[in-house]
Amino acid sequence: MFKINRQKMKAVLLLAGMAFILSACSGAKENEGAEWTFFAMDTYITLNAYGKNADAALDMAEDRMIELEHLWSVTDEKSEVTAMNRGNGDTVEVSDETADLLAFTLQMASQTNGALDPTIYPVVDAWGFTGQENRIPDVHELNRLLENVGYSKVKQNGNEVTIPGGTKIDFGAVGKGYAGDILADTLTDGGISSALIDLGGNIQAVGSKPDGSDWKIGIRNPTGDGHIGVLSVSDRAVVTSGSYERNFIGEDGKEYGHILDPATGYPVENGLLSVTIVAKQGKLCDALSTSLFVMGLDKAIDYWKRYRDFDMILITEQKDIYLTEGIRPQIELDETWGSGRLEVII
Ligand code: AMP
Ligand code: MG
Repeated sequence: MFKINRQKMKAVLLLAGMAFILSACSGAKENEGAEWTFFAMDTYITLNAYGKNADAALDMAEDRMIELEHLWSVTDEKSEVTAMNRGNGDTVEVSDETADLLAFTLQMASQTNGALDPTIYPVVDAWGFTGQENRIPDVHELNRLLENVGYSKVKQNGNEVTIPGGTKIDFGAVGKGYAGDILADTLTDGGISSALIDLGGNIQAVGSKPDGSDWKIGIRNPTGDGHIGVLSVSDRAVVTSGSYERNFIGEDGKEYGHILDPATGYPVENGLLSVTIVAKQGKLCDALSTSLFVMGLDKAIDYWKRYRDFDMILITEQKDIYLTEGIRPQIELDETWGSGRLEVII
């Protein structure tokens, strides 16, 4: 039976207008699946699992998600991220999960030449993207804050982390993807071989639909409502970044998005509207969706040509769509969307 976690009923109603997962509720017989929705990591989370252990597995997954949120929330005084950020040059010991996530984030920061940088946090905060009112910081304030930005200032030795005073990190760009991997493992360990995890648009598909066919995932239209197409995947994560997700109009009438260029401290403005990454690991998808958005079209294509261990969909302001070749057979584009070209990257 499809069961909705009772405390979270309101979230479900809201989500009904937000979510677009064509197959999440359609593939299984009623008595084979369970659906839970709850709020964590600043987003609505929907978990669909199939099989007779579905409810018990989802219960474990929800508990796990709450644990991870307690570890990584920058606004939680007791989180491990807060402890690291308060270290002021002293070494802080963190859990294995946090150590793993930090090591991965620092590795990706280095691999993307700092396009991904978890120490950008104080600048994100200055723009008001951490919950308070949005504002446009002046260039002096940004330059002052940028003195403490730089992922190489963070020192890690296993579970021991040292962050100098003034430098602060957050996992806003990678944490949800990593949580998706952990939830997928939790469900698999709980005996589930078919599930769909939706962390506010970060999708993680465990196996295929119960009938063996691919999950159908809508790729959001970055310029308005609806979708640019539908992607068919099994056992993959699909993660999108774009400034349309969170932005504000400044007093100067300009739009400012939540993904910042760590080189300048300003919101990215490079002609890309969204970057969707498709790969096995959610953490890789999340790290790359943010950093390739920062890089822009040409550098993102160069990066893909160098690594080729993921697929991507890039959408530009001209409404052109760039797809990597591996994903071409899996995507069905909406013919009515946009007027731009379709370019396959090989
Ligand atoms: P995502 O939605 O995964 O692209 O992550 C965006 C979030 O990561 C933002 O809301 C900020 O909290 C943070 N962020 C913004 N720019 C960067 C950046 N260049 N590197 C790392 N984190 C960033
Ligand atoms: Mg990301």
